Amino acid sequence: MLVLGGTRDAYDLATALVASAELAPLAVMSSLAGRTASPLVPPGGVRSGGFGGVAGLAAYLECEGIDAAVDATHPFAATISRNAVLACARIGVPLLGLERPRWTPVPGDRWERVPDVAAAALRARELGQRIFLTIGRQGLAPFAAIDDRWFLVRAIDPPEVALPPRHTLLLARGPFALADELALLRRHAIDVVVAKDSGGDATAAKLTAARTLGIAVVVVDRPPVSGAATVAGSDAVIEWLAALRAPANAR
Ligand code: NAP
Repeated sequence: MLVLGGTRDAYDLATALVASAELAPLAVMSSLAGRTASPLVPPGGVRSGGFGGVAGLAAYLECEGIDAAVDATHPFAATISRNAVLACARIGVPLLGLERPRWTPVPGDRWERVPDVAAAALRARELGQRIFLTIGRQGLAPFAAIDDRWFLVRAIDPPEVALPPRHTLLLARGPFALADELALLRRHAIDVVVAKDSGGDATAAKLTAARTLGIAVVVVDRPPVSGAATVAGSDAVIEWLAALRAPANAR
């Protein structure tokens, strides 16, 4: 089976699938986009790099004899998710999406949702002077021209696009602890946080830290969903795979 990955969730899923006694023997191939210099490498097989669009992914599914695929990519990785739906439908490979619930505000949060990073750049500039950009390396372009605000830019690898003139770059990979996030916001006197609605636990501490300090958060909404059926958690994926196999076993 193929796990479209590049996330902590995908890593955890591949680990669970490889360890599953119920599904054994099962060949698990994780696919990474190849963007980060030293990615977390999950157990099982791993391939890296784009497939070459829908046609390339369809050819891969066919050549490798993939029986089932799970889209465990990041909620903002909309292209690969859409490609997976089209390619799997073309080849007749069952596809399941691994859900990552959206973040929802709780009392005390000062969130403003915006539709995209361009809107986030406009709003963050209106809201504060010292802006913490936690949207990764992609989507930084709309901030590059803002020269009258200071930015703390956090990413796993160095961004390949221009950054705002006044910035500090922090290279770090989650998960991040609440105490560290609080210290970071205080140390840099941050007054606005910009985050994507990634969901999940690994990077949620920044939201708790912002709430604790009464800091505004500009939350970029997710792109539209791909259309694949989804489940939450590795156990549900294992159930789905077991059910896919059941008719064959019964014969
Ligand atoms: P994207 O815009 O949906 O995909 C762009 C292209 O990258 C795809 O068309 C595909 O190239 C290739 N690609 C993406 N994910 C792939 C995978 N798992 N395996 C093989 N090829 C892949 O994706 P993105 O937003 O650039 O994200 C790239 C990767 O980083 C994803 O795997 C995602 O899970 C991870 N990630 C993204 C974010 C984010 O905020 N976007 C955050 C954390 C992690 P071809 O068309 O050539 O097949």
